[in-house]
Parts: sequence; structure tokens; C-alpha cells
Amino acid sequence: MKRKSKKSEEKTYEIDSDLVLDVQDLRKTYIMGKIKVPALRGINLKVKKGEFVAILGPSGAGKTTLINCLGALDFPDSGKIIYNMNHDGRGQNITEMTNQEHKEMRLNRIGLIFQFYNLFPVLTAYENVELPMLIAKKPELKREQRVKAMLKIVGLEERMEHFPTQMSGGEQQRVTVARSMVNAPLIILADEPTGELDTETTINIIKIFLKIKQVGQSILMATHNIRIAEAADRVLNLKDGKIISERKGGKDIDKIFNLDKEE
Ligand code: ADP
Repeated sequence: MKRKSKKSEEKTYEIDSDLVLDVQDLRKTYIMGKIKVPALRGINLKVKKGEFVAILGPSGAGKTTLINCLGALDFPDSGKIIYNMNHDGRGQNITEMTNQEHKEMRLNRIGLIFQFYNLFPVLTAYENVELPMLIAKKPELKREQRVKAMLKIVGLEERMEHFPTQMSGGEQQRVTVARSMVNAPLIILADEPTGELDTETTINIIKIFLKIKQVGQSILMATHNIRIAEAADRVLNLKDGKIISERKGGKDIDKIFNLDKEE
């Protein structure tokens, strides 16, 4: 196995063992010529194992910047993003990791879901879900068992051989949910995962999140949609790059939308 860089091997941060993620004073400013655009202005947040947390905010609040920083796709100017790598209370800060370690994080520790499904059109649902396991060089038998189990969780075991063009938007997003979980990540980061979907399909995706949360999967979902946010365990309100308030969620997703119909 390749040796990790000295830097992150030596430096660990104490993190409560029931947490998967501890974000401390995260800041990022985009500079466009002479204009400075502060996107994150001191974000602090914690996510527990098996917790479903929503980041709720309007367009421009900083949701995508936050998700991208947490997913090692973009880099903050300062602050810490500490993951409880082995659930042992010895956290590692991804802002101090090497590029190689970032790749490893994205492949094995972080599941990413975006608004647009980003599936490979030439691969079947099965092959799209299998890909992260192939890259991670997992053995074939393990791959087959895991991919089938993930497709079953999202209710697509009958559609394994279908290509993305043969599936609806909601079905394609379910494939990405299965793909995000396949390497058993510490957390799923979902950026506006239902942004392109109709109400029924949106409810379906949220129900899948609630189901995988029950088996211990942590999820952090960014959205501008107040209704779906309320189905999460906790809702953090993001405005102008700051979390301005926090409240309990946990509302029944069917009730949230049925109430709407009765109005
Ligand atoms: P949200 O996802 O909540 O819509 P973003 O994270 O995309 O918010 O954007 C937060 C702020 O940062 C906005 O003011 C946006 O214009 C700015 N921003 C985002 N990405 C860039 C970039 N690549 N260059 C410059 N400014 C950016």
C-alpha cells in the first residue's frame, strides 16, 4: 500500500466519536479582478453518524461552495474540515491532505450527488454503480454483491441493464444515490439533488435518504427547497455565506406535501 504523506499521517484532530464531520470556521472568498465575492464567511457545523442534515439557503448563499469544499472539489481559504476517518475519534483535516489523499477521499469516504445526474451514458445502471468499486480495485464478487444490494435499496434491481437514456430523471438520480453509497462513504454530500425532479420523484429520493439514514448513513444535503429540507433531522439556514439559524426537522415527507395539496 502506498504510504501517506507525513503531513496528514502525523496530524490528527480530536473529534467526538459519534461525529463523522466537524467543520470549523470555514472561509472562502472568490476574487474576480478587483471584486471580492465572499462565499463562505465562517461556517461551523457538525454531522453525526446516521444524521441527515439539510443546508437551506437561497441562490447565492454559498451552498455549492460549501459542498464543493467538503467534497475536496474546491478549497477554502481557511478553516478546518475534519472527518472522523475511522470512527475512532482521531479526525483528519482534508485541507491538510495531499492531492492523492483527496482522490482517495472522493473515491472511498465521500459520496457525491449533484443536481444533474452525471451518469456515463454508455454504461448501464449496474456499470455506473460499479465504477467507483472498479476504480478502488475491489474484487469482482464483492462488487457484484454490493452493486446489486445498492440498486435494490434504491428500487432499481429490475433496471440494472438499462442505460441512462432508457431511464427517467428520477430513476437516473436513484442510480447516482446507489453509486454514491457503493464504497460505503463516511458521508453523502448532495447538492440540490431534487432540483430537476417533479414532486413525486422528489419525495421518492427523500424517502431513500431517510431509509439509508436508518442504516447509519450520514447525509448532508444542500437545497433551496424549504419543504424537503424539513424532512431532514436538522435544518441549517445559510445566508450570505453564514449559518444564521438552526432548527429541528424530522417532518413526515408525505405530510409536508399533502398539506400543500390541501391549501
Ligand atoms: P449557492 O449554491 O447557494 O447558489 P454558490 O456557492 O454557488 O451559492 O455561490 C456563493 C457566492 O459565490 C455567490 O455570490 C456566487 O456568485 C459566488 N461564486 C460562486 N462560484 C464562483 C466562482 N467560481 N467565481 C466567482 N464567484 C463565485
